[in-house]
Amino acid sequence: SEDVIKTDAVIIGAGPVGLFAVFELGLVDVKAHVIDILDRPGGQCAELYPEKPIYDVPALAIVTGQELTDRLMEQIKPFGAEFHFSERVETLEKTDEGYRLVTDAGTTFECKVVVIAAGGGSFTPKRPPLPGIEQYEGTSVFYSVRKMDAFRDKDVLIVGGGDSALDWTLNLQPVAKSLTLVHRRQEFRAAPASVQKMLELVDSGNISFKLGQVTELHGDNAQLTGVTVKRPDGSTFEQPTEVMLPFFGLTMKLGPVANWGLNLEENLVPVDTEKFETSEKGIFAIGDINAYPGKLKLILSGFHEAALMAQQAHKYVHPDKKLIFQYTTSSSNLQKKLGVK
Ligand code: FAD
Repeated sequence: SEDVIKTDAVIIGAGPVGLFAVFELGLVDVKAHVIDILDRPGGQCAELYPEKPIYDVPALAIVTGQELTDRLMEQIKPFGAEFHFSERVETLEKTDEGYRLVTDAGTTFECKVVVIAAGGGSFTPKRPPLPGIEQYEGTSVFYSVRKMDAFRDKDVLIVGGGDSALDWTLNLQPVAKSLTLVHRRQEFRAAPASVQKMLELVDSGNISFKLGQVTELHGDNAQLTGVTVKRPDGSTFEQPTEVMLPFFGLTMKLGPVANWGLNLEENLVPVDTEKFETSEKGIFAIGDINAYPGKLKLILSGFHEAALMAQQAHKYVHPDKKLIFQYTTSSSNLQKKLGVK
């Protein structure tokens, strides 16, 4: 946390709109860092409907949520934005030169402009209804994996049957001292290939799988020593463990955006429709998080908002330079930035 990352722009949210903002800012020479509490890009598209087709993204007659995300990542590659996943922006405050942001991991950013592309709010893990779980959170109970090394040589218990539970079972198995997966049913919602790999690891004795539900936590001083698991037949057993990772899905909550002193209207951030700037100069809001007369919560609206936001952001980052309107088709200057010239 001692190191401060200095950059032109910080984009809060790596949903489709935050991603496209990297592109529009890049064209006007504004460098960006992107932060998202999720462990990968795509926002709602990747988290809520990766396999559902979208039919109203211009020029793509049909594209799934994941495909759109992948294509945006490809399109913004030339601009080399840095991503900070599994981190939530907690504080945003004014400095003499711009803004300072700090995440829940302690990462500190100083920048000239802030782009809030926070969508429906930050994705927040669902907490399992276990008495006293709060006391273990962050020490023995984790809802995401920031650094795999934190679990090296530990007895790890993963709970859940979706993609996150299965992915982390496969990824942490080589690192952990022991790994146990607990799920309440024999059926999994995760990708069949991951389930297959997990079952192979069970067969080879590298992990264990237990059918049941965690009903109680045991330990003291924020250190877990084990959990009680209830089998489908109602009987129980105790499973020793040092660490538990429950993956019970995510919900969207506005989160810290509410504490940044911005005007809010029904949990949305009002902006003007010329620059998509908030009540604070240099703080913009684009995509699902903003509000203005006639707003439609569509991906294509967010893309347009990103383009106009970038025009104004350029003024704050390069106050001495005049922005000349150019087309990507004909400007060799823009094509150089895109790496196609
Ligand atoms: P989001 O996609 O919501 O991304 C915001 C990101 O910001 C999230 O990942 C969140 O974790 C992160 N974040 C928020 N606060 C913080 C913080 N403090 N720190 C770190 N990260 C933070 N739109 C269409 O145009 N066409 C469709 O067909 C369509 N179908 C849809 C179907 C479904 C089922 C759903 C749920 C939505 C659909 N939408 C559709 C809407 C579309 O998904 C949204 O308009 C779009 O995702 C908004 O993009 P965004 O980048 O503004 O926000």
